[in-house]
Amino acid sequence: MEYRRLGKSGLQVSALSFGSWLTFGKQIENGIADELMTIAYDNGINFFDNAEIYARGKSEEVMGEILKKKGWSRDSYIVSSKAFFGLGGKDLKPTQKGLHRKHLVEACEQALKRFQLDYLDLYFCHRPDKQTPIEETVWTMHNLIQQGKILYWGTSEWSAQEIMEAHMVAQRYSLIGPTMEQPQYNMLERNKVEGEFAQLYKTVGLGTTIWSPLASGVLTGKYNDGFPEGTRLGIEGLDWLRDNTLVEANMKRVKELTKFAFDLGMTMPILALAWCLKNENVSTVILGASKRAQLIENFKAFEGRDRLTPQVMEQIEQILKNKPAP
Ligand code: NDP
Repeated sequence: MEYRRLGKSGLQVSALSFGSWLTFGKQIENGIADELMTIAYDNGINFFDNAEIYARGKSEEVMGEILKKKGWSRDSYIVSSKAFFGLGGKDLKPTQKGLHRKHLVEACEQALKRFQLDYLDLYFCHRPDKQTPIEETVWTMHNLIQQGKILYWGTSEWSAQEIMEAHMVAQRYSLIGPTMEQPQYNMLERNKVEGEFAQLYKTVGLGTTIWSPLASGVLTGKYNDGFPEGTRLGIEGLDWLRDNTLVEANMKRVKELTKFAFDLGMTMPILALAWCLKNENVSTVILGASKRAQLIENFKAFEGRDRLTPQVMEQIEQILKNKPAP
């Protein structure tokens, strides 16, 4: 395994990490979740990603149970939660979501209970909240760090401007600012990581924990010739995800890339993950998996990365033709 600094912080995070969205507490049995986390940990993954909204809290409960059962030393892994959406559902009260002090503090307490842990390593603001002054959010996160409830805080799907505002507030009051952002990043979605955030790596030392590196499985090539049974995009209620990802422009690129990967002698998922790892501004690539074989295959991304020469990267660029303007 390779470890990278989480932005300018000293925290060493494994370049591949493992997340539980749509799988833990939902798509897969708890026993499979246990096997997947064990494979991940045994292969050097030290970061497990989670959020209050994943399976409405169940994902954190399942992960917490596994961590307890395994008895891995608490200082050997990093675990996260994210707050903003609350536990979801129509009956949610306004106090039960958002980035105001009340929800951030209560969501943190509740996540710790579900995980059966004393502190979270990483705590994310899952989306920006236009209804809460940024000062309130930054002060709350700083205080949670001071109280030992969390170690680092960050954002997810915030704009560069919103991240900068948080840093300016932190500077003004000598508070701890956000260490990392969790954006979507993959061969089909490059704008934030390669475009919008370009300056932030230098100015504030932004770390990135990137999500959906395989675009929910589309970048494995398995949707190229139809719709395989038992896969994520067939799950009930995920029509929005299917409609957003299985679009013609994406499928055209993925079909060409699948052929390119074959000619290179690697599988499509390996090529797609290797390409993410190649970006030095990515602190960690969060993997998702519903089966053991997927996770085991995905570890080959490092070998794949070493074969992505400048010439190969240029050939990929010719297929993608979606590089954000500098
Ligand atoms: P991916 O884009 O890598 O999708 C993972 C899914 O692709 C798997 O569950 C599996 O689905 C399929 N897959 C994975 N590997 C293979 C393989 N080798 N061959 C065939 N199919 C494969 O990542 P996720 O979308 O799961 O995102 C990763 C993590 O990022 C999440 O768990 C979560 O922690 C985080 N995240 C954060 C978000 C945020 O807003 N901050 C949003 C979304 C995710 P299947 O078998 O069902 O087809």
